[in-house]
Amino acid sequence: MSIIDKFRLDGKSAFVTGGARGIGKSVATAFAEAGADVAIVDVDIATAEATAAEIAAATGRRMTAIACDVTDPEQVDRMVDEVVKTYGKLDVAFCNAGICINEAAENMTYAQWSKVININLTGVFLTAQAAGRQMLRQGGGSIINTASMSAHIVNVPQPQCAYNASKAGVIQLTKSMAVEWAARNVRVNCISPGYIGTDLTLSSPSLVPLIEQWNQMSPIHRLGKPEELQAICVYLASDASPFTTGGDFVVDGAFTCF
Ligand code: NAD
Repeated sequence: MSIIDKFRLDGKSAFVTGGARGIGKSVATAFAEAGADVAIVDVDIATAEATAAEIAAATGRRMTAIACDVTDPEQVDRMVDEVVKTYGKLDVAFCNAGICINEAAENMTYAQWSKVININLTGVFLTAQAAGRQMLRQGGGSIINTASMSAHIVNVPQPQCAYNASKAGVIQLTKSMAVEWAARNVRVNCISPGYIGTDLTLSSPSLVPLIEQWNQMSPIHRLGKPEELQAICVYLASDASPFTTGGDFVVDGAFTCF
C-alpha cells in the first residue's frame, strides 16, 4: 500500500465532539472526505444535524448527528453505544468540544472555573475513556484530543487561567492514556492549535478587537483556518501513523516559538 493510500480512512467510523461547527466541523469534513463515516456529536443538535446533512451531501458518507453534553458520563456512554450500533465499531474519536471564559484570575468565580474545566478537561476524559473502552474491546483505534497552544504559553492580553490550565491537563491526560493503552493498539494523541478563526474567536465581541494584536505577535501574522488542522487529524486518525502515540502536535504558525 502506498503512503498516500495509508492516509485513507475508508471503512473506518469516527465521532467528533463539538462537531457542529468550527474546528470539529472542518475535521469531520476531512474524515468524511478521506472515506470515514462520521457522527457529529454536539450539545447544539440542530446545528449538528445541519452539519451532518451538509457533509453527507458533499461526500456521500454515512453521517449522523448525536446530541450529547460531554460533561455527562451517561450521555457520553450512550453516545458511544449509538455510534457502535450505527456503524458496528468505533475506529476514531476526536474529543474536541471546548469553551473559553475570559476572566481575571482574582475575579474568576467557582462556577466559571468549573464550567471550563468540566467541558475542556473532564469532557475530554469522559469521551476519550468511553471511546478507549470500546477500542480496547475491539482491538484498536485512534483517539485525538484537542488541547491548545494555551497549554504551552499564557495568552495575552486576555486573561484565561481556567482555559490554559484545562488545556495543559489535556496534554498530560493524552500522554497518560497513550502510555496505558499503547501495547493494546489504542493510540492517543492531541493537537495544540494556535489562534484559529472560528466562532470561538470571531464571534466574541471582547476578542475581536484583540485579533490585530495577536496577528502582530504571530510570526505568520494571521489567524489559522479550521481547514489547516485537517491534515494532522487525518494523519493521526489513519493507518499512516501506527507508531505515533502520546504526541502533542502544535499547529500555530510558529506562535509559541519565542
Ligand atoms: P467553536 O465554539 O466554534 O465550537 C465548539 C463546539 O463545541 C460548538 O459546536 C459547541 O456547541 C460545542 N460544545 C460546547 N460545549 C459542549 C459540550 N458540553 N458538549 C458537547 N459539545 C459542546 O470552537 P472551536 O474554535 O471550533 O474550538 C474547538 C476546540 O478547539 C475547543 O476545544 C477549543 O478550545 C480548541 N481550540 C480553539 C482555538 C481557536 O482559536 N478557535 C485554538 C486552540 C484550541
